Amino acid sequence: MADPLKVAIVGAGPAGLAAAEVLSEAGVAVTVLDRMPSPARKLLMAGRGGLNLTHTEPLETFLSRYGAARGRLEPAVRAFPPEAVRAWCEGLGQTTYAGTSGRVFPTAMKAAPLLRALLARLAARGVTLLSRHAWTGWSAEGALAFDLPGLAPLHLAPDAALLALGGASWPRLGSDAAWVPLLAARGLGLSPFRPANCGVLVPWTDHLRDRFAGTPLKRIALSFDGRTVRGEAVITAGGLEGGAVYALSAAIRDRVAAESAATVTLDLRPDLPAEEVARRLAAPRRGQSLSNHLRRTLALPPAAIALLREGGVPPEAAVKALELRVTGVSGLDRAISSAGGLRWEEVAEDFALPRLPGLFAAGEMLDWEAPTGGHLLTACLATGRAAARGVLARLGAGLESSP
Ligand SMILES: Cc1cc2nc3c(=O)[nH]c(=O)nc-3n(C[C@H](O)[C@H](O)[C@H](O)COP(=O)(O)OP(=O)(O)OC[C@H]3O[C@@H](n4cnc5c(N)ncnc54)[C@H](O)[C@@H]3O)c2cc1C
Repeated sequence: MADPLKVAIVGAGPAGLAAAEVLSEAGVAVTVLDRMPSPARKLLMAGRGGLNLTHTEPLETFLSRYGAARGRLEPAVRAFPPEAVRAWCEGLGQTTYAGTSGRVFPTAMKAAPLLRALLARLAARGVTLLSRHAWTGWSAEGALAFDLPGLAPLHLAPDAALLALGGASWPRLGSDAAWVPLLAARGLGLSPFRPANCGVLVPWTDHLRDRFAGTPLKRIALSFDGRTVRGEAVITAGGLEGGAVYALSAAIRDRVAAESAATVTLDLRPDLPAEEVARRLAAPRRGQSLSNHLRRTLALPPAAIALLREGGVPPEAAVKALELRVTGVSGLDRAISSAGGLRWEEVAEDFALPRLPGLFAAGEMLDWEAPTGGHLLTACLATGRAAARGVLARLGAGLESSP
């Protein structure tokens, strides 16, 4: 019997592990290598927020979230759509539920049980997982080279290799983008990594920063460039973060890059019409301070009142439309994801890299971005699986044509 095909997957995040599942199911001998001491650290971190796996919105809307990259991601996502993501999770023994917003989570609200079940499935199929193996490029003979702490480098020459090296956010979880110069040196085009789903920088006064950093602003609405998002924001030492901010952060980031600042508008009582706010504020103050009046009539919390006072604009105008000047976005080290990566012209329809024969790529290392809402993980799983099918098809075709 011929030896099984050998495929190396570099990167044990959601994209790499999804690829390992498809390849091992097809009988391929799979080795997954990762530079970290244990796999899928970013997935585990995502689990701290409940692990938003996917979304129940209509597929058309879901696909539209990928913006300019939709066309390239669509076949992969259609082949592994949100309901398949849920079925996959349930097949690994983790029931799922959809929140009122349509976001889908494992009922356990964490990643560890799902990851454990997936790793057990892969181990049962003979997948080898090598941790502390950092891919550093190619040997003189053209094999893939890996650095291991305290040992001689490992050289591997598999039948095909699939890169699933992640983006550039939270580098301490593993995806540090050290692979970028390796591919650039081979002439591949890359878009610079930029923070996505990130906080924004607002130059607070010392008073606001000292008293309210870490304070959530619940049930607010944030608007930028004609889009309004209801949700929560958190005041940080440097500005604002949280769901409503992340949803608008790509557009804010691009505006700041073009014009060095952007103005966002905060509605502190989105549930009340402007007339009602005005009516309540017009009630007699009876000698109370403005802060007390705002608290009594509009039930605003101290942080919201401090924001209003900081702006120096009469509250009648500002409660529904407090303008904040954003001077930047927070860095890649704290962003949930990154925009940029390996450009699509370097990637074939089946996720092969035509300039590097035998190599494929998947996941967040490719040049796309999406809001939080499960769209990131869905596309990472879907492209990992699609790239694995690409490997199978090309290796299968190669075998058929060989004597
Ligand atoms: C705080 C946080 C919360 C998140 N919450 C959600 C959420 O709820 N829903 C959602 O959809 N998404 C969420 N995400 C985003 C999601 O986790 C990522 O998009 C996803 O993990 C990317 O998958 P990936 O497999 O492409 O890359 P990664 O998960 O980054 O995995 C890449 C792997 O490659 C390894 N690697 C990198 N370089 C090398 C090298 N040279 N040699 C060997 N190995 C290497 C890394 O160690 C890493 O293990 C969150 C992210 C963060 C940081």
